[in-house]
Amino acid sequence: MHEAQFGLLVSVAISLFFALIGHVTVCAELHNCVDKGTCYSLNSGSVLDPSCSFRTTVTPAGYALLNASVQYDAMQRLNRGVCSPGLRQQVDSVTGDMTCTRKRSWPSALIEEIGDPNGATDHERYCGKWIDAGSIAYGEEMWAWYDAKETENDVDNVVRARGAARMAATDLGKFRASCRSMVASNSAGASAKQAYDLLSPGLDANSLDMALESVGFLASHYCDAPALVGVGIGTYDDWFTAKVVAGTVLSTQSLRNALYVVGETRAVRDEAVAYANAMSEFLYTAMEPTTQDQAKAVLRGTYRGTWIVGYLGPSMNVAYDAHNGPLERFVAAYAAQGSAKAQSYVKGVAAVCSLAAQSMVVAETGQMLPAYFRPKMAHASATRPHTTKTGAAALGRLVPPDEEHDAVTEETLLNASTVRLSALSALASADRTSAREVCLSAAKRVFPDEFDRIAFNALVTPRLYERLGLLADEIREATAATLNQDTIGSIFANNADRLAARNKILATKVRIAGAPRGTWAGIDREFRRPDITSDDSALTIIVKQARAVYLDRLLPVVTNANICEHPALYAGVSRNAYLLLTSGSACSMILPGLIVPPFADERYDDASLVTRIGFVMAHEFMHVTAYRSQWNEAYAQTLMSNYPESTYVEAVADIGAAASMMRFAYVTNETTCASVSQLFCGRVGWMPPLWTDPEPPWHPPTNVRGDNVCAFLRTYFTR
Ligand SMILES: [Zn+2]
Repeated sequence: MHEAQFGLLVSVAISLFFALIGHVTVCAELHNCVDKGTCYSLNSGSVLDPSCSFRTTVTPAGYALLNASVQYDAMQRLNRGVCSPGLRQQVDSVTGDMTCTRKRSWPSALIEEIGDPNGATDHERYCGKWIDAGSIAYGEEMWAWYDAKETENDVDNVVRARGAARMAATDLGKFRASCRSMVASNSAGASAKQAYDLLSPGLDANSLDMALESVGFLASHYCDAPALVGVGIGTYDDWFTAKVVAGTVLSTQSLRNALYVVGETRAVRDEAVAYANAMSEFLYTAMEPTTQDQAKAVLRGTYRGTWIVGYLGPSMNVAYDAHNGPLERFVAAYAAQGSAKAQSYVKGVAAVCSLAAQSMVVAETGQMLPAYFRPKMAHASATRPHTTKTGAAALGRLVPPDEEHDAVTEETLLNASTVRLSALSALASADRTSAREVCLSAAKRVFPDEFDRIAFNALVTPRLYERLGLLADEIREATAATLNQDTIGSIFANNADRLAARNKILATKVRIAGAPRGTWAGIDREFRRPDITSDDSALTIIVKQARAVYLDRLLPVVTNANICEHPALYAGVSRNAYLLLTSGSACSMILPGLIVPPFADERYDDASLVTRIGFVMAHEFMHVTAYRSQWNEAYAQTLMSNYPESTYVEAVADIGAAASMMRFAYVTNETTCASVSQLFCGRVGWMPPLWTDPEPPWHPPTNVRGDNVCAFLRTYFTR
């Protein structure tokens, strides 16, 4: 052995020796302190874990040596551990993993530890420490919204916990159990065939009128028919109308595939393809505009033979797009190709529809779902047109746009009510390991109202719901009174418009999606469930449930219900609120996902509740000012001089809400400033944006939003 190697061995042996001594010393100390009760062992108890590490415990008497305030701070610091200011270490209730969650704070909702008392701006004073504790490259992360996705997941966990097939008591539970069974047994094909067999007897193209009714029948199942029937709002009054809008011309490829899969003959496939070719080959100039009788036939097909008929008056008005390319092509092809081929085409639509239902759970390789074809609507929106792309989230539901447009119009309602099954296909295909998640996600897409109810029950306590009811009435009065005052009211050029806006607020109902039927924020009607049996496959349940959703949306139309009877346009768990605004009235919708800290808690004191969820309610009410054509522009420029001009519609809702807060005796401008600063503060990406948005911002920028409200309050209010 070389001498150097010997030296190395000696040094290894010596260090091992000292390590052992160290280990023995630590173990002896552990033994000693555990006996005395001043520490606890961190050893996992496994034979593979010989460690003797321990953590000292401080006895209550030990803490008593510190003075009281230091003791509170010490506890807060220990609970915060590695988390950012405003967050607390938490053991996840489902996974058992260590996470950081929002610190709860009541009765005052203000979280002081996230503020930097030496900050130069209001958002730094109230939120600076949280902002500085993290950094993001792109986009924004807002204090009041950063954990919205986690809350959605928490609500999903409530559903997951009740998912056992043996506990499948509700329709939702039965669907999920049936769906997992289908995935486990790989019976999706047979299930799709059963769904097709449910649809095809409803199709009859013997006359043009009957063919159009068949189109309506398919539209009421949210299939890719030549026309769709959505819920709109009448131009001259404020009633809902059923509106026949453009649908889809299916490609020959998807027709051929789908009809083959459901077992139709080659003759039927060829006829459907011939009809589809005829539809796409007509020259644009050869089309005749849709007539009212044709639109009526489509609408009739959506409800014929259902329970809705019992609610129908002598005549039912129908609105329709005068230029409806796909429907005009269907009508022209009927004249040229005849009823037999038309019958095969509508069968093809039904086959594609069954596969669309299937694609919500299982992806079929090579299957091409029809691309959504809809000409851009020429909609003369009074507020800014909605150019933001919004995807489909569920039947009747859209994905909330990135940049929140919370003053929504008929167009959003129409888009949400014409979401087709094929727009809801699953992102991942199910196998046995993912069946739980994929079937849950499919359930969310077809049982939207049930999920609103679940979100409401999970997030809103009876006590909080009762307080919100009282608060909504107070806020309505306060915002109406604010419009009477000149500071905000003078934004209207004309006194008649101002008075109309004030009266609109007084008539605005506040709705919370998923609230119990008949209570202050709930809708009046009960969801009429489809007729399902244990023989129905999962995909048949999807198709039946789709029809039930359609008929539920048609009921307020045929009964001339208040516009607040519309179903929520976004999922109940989203942290969102909006005002559906028409020329004559308004409806304020709050989604249960927003009724969580830092916006609301049943133990918040009055000042905290009114300046948080109350501020959001007031902001929505104040959107009755959104018609900029009614404004005194010169006054608007003075009032909102520190806002970018593109954000004026939102800005006036913000400062109008802030002014309304000041009508509550227990609110000062500092409490409002503090609340609003924490609601709208956030981290802003440090990288320059990759592309510049062609559109100027709609909302005042993060942080500036709170700062400007504080500046407004200091200028106009002294309290
Ligand atoms: Zn807004």
